[in-house]
Amino acid sequence: MKILLFGANGQVGWELRRSLAPLGELIALGSAGEEGLAGNFLDPQAVAATVEKVRPTVVVNAAAYTAVDRAESEPDAARMVNALTPEAIAQSARRIGAPVVHYSTDYVFDGSGEQPWREDDVTGPLSVYGRTKLEGEQRIAAAQPQHLILRTSWVYAARGGNFAKTMVRLARERERLTVIDDQFGAPTGAELLADVTAHAIPALLRDPALAGIYHVAAEGVTTWNGYARFVVDQARQLGESLKAGPADVAPVPTSAFPTPARRPHNSRLDTGRFRRAFGLALPPWERGVARMLQEILERS
Ligand code: NDP
Repeated sequence: MKILLFGANGQVGWELRRSLAPLGELIALGSAGEEGLAGNFLDPQAVAATVEKVRPTVVVNAAAYTAVDRAESEPDAARMVNALTPEAIAQSARRIGAPVVHYSTDYVFDGSGEQPWREDDVTGPLSVYGRTKLEGEQRIAAAQPQHLILRTSWVYAARGGNFAKTMVRLARERERLTVIDDQFGAPTGAELLADVTAHAIPALLRDPALAGIYHVAAEGVTTWNGYARFVVDQARQLGESLKAGPADVAPVPTSAFPTPARRPHNSRLDTGRFRRAFGLALPPWERGVARMLQEILERS
C-alpha cells in the first residue's frame, strides 16, 4: 500500500507518520512539500497534481487552518485550506481511485443542548473555522464517495504547546487559576486519532461500504475546568511542585474570556457509529491525558 499524507507536521499529522508507517510506503508532506511534490494548501492545483503524480492507494489529509480566532479575519485563507484544497484533493483522488481520509470537528455544530452530537444531526457552525470545515466535509463527500471523514474534538499532543502544559506552568507560578466551566467535551489525543486511522484504513479498503462520516473522540466528558483540575492533580502526583492544587482552579463562564470566534458549549460527540462499524474501543479521556503528562513531565 502507498499512502500520501498531507499536514505531516501538525499534532495529528506527526502521529500519523508513526501509526501509518507499518501499512506500507508513506509519503509524508508538510506545507513546504518536498522536491517535485507540493504540500501548500494555498495552491490547490499544485496539491491536486501531487496526488495524481504520487498515485497513492489512499490519501490522508491532516492539514487544516486551525487558528480558530485568526480565521475570523482571514476567511479566504481558511476556506482555501479547509474546503477548496481538500475538494481538489478529493477530485484527484477519485480520478486515481484512492479513498480520502480527512478530519473535521464538532465546531460544525452550534453547541446547543447537552446530548452528544450524532453524525446526521443538523449542523450550524458558529465561526468561520466551523463553516469552512463543514464546507470541506461537503465538498469532499461530493467529489469522492470513498471517504472517511472523522469529526473529533479538543485535540492535544505531547509535542508542541498544549493546554495541559499551559496549566502546569500556570500552577507553578500562581496560587489560583481561572478556567471556563461551561464548554463540555472530551480531550482527544492525536495518538489515539492516528492509531484508529491506521486501523480504519485497511478496513475501508476491504469494505468500501464503510465509507462515510464518523465521530471519533475519547470516551467521557469534562469541561476545560475539569480538564485543568485533572492535569494539576496528576502533575502533583507525578512530583511537580505546584503553588495551585485542583481546588484552586476556579470556574468562570466563557464570557469571562471574550474571543473573536464563538465556541460551542456542547462539544460532546456520540462515537457509537464509529465503534460499531470498525469494531474499535475509544478509551476514557483521562487515560490519554495522564499518559501524555507522564511523558512530558518525566522528560522535563
Ligand atoms: P494542527 O494545527 O496541529 O496542524 C495543522 C497542520 O495544518 C499544520 O501542520 C500546518 O502546517 C498545516 N497547515 C496549515 N496551513 C496550511 C497550508 N496553507 N498548507 C499546508 N498545510 C497547512 O492541527 P491538528 O493536528 O490539531 O488538527 C488535525 C485535524 O483535526 C484538522 O482537520 C483539524 O481541523 C481537526 N480538529 C482539530 C482539533 C483541535 O483541537 N486541534 C479539534 C477538532 C478537529 P504548518 O505547521 O506547516 O503551517
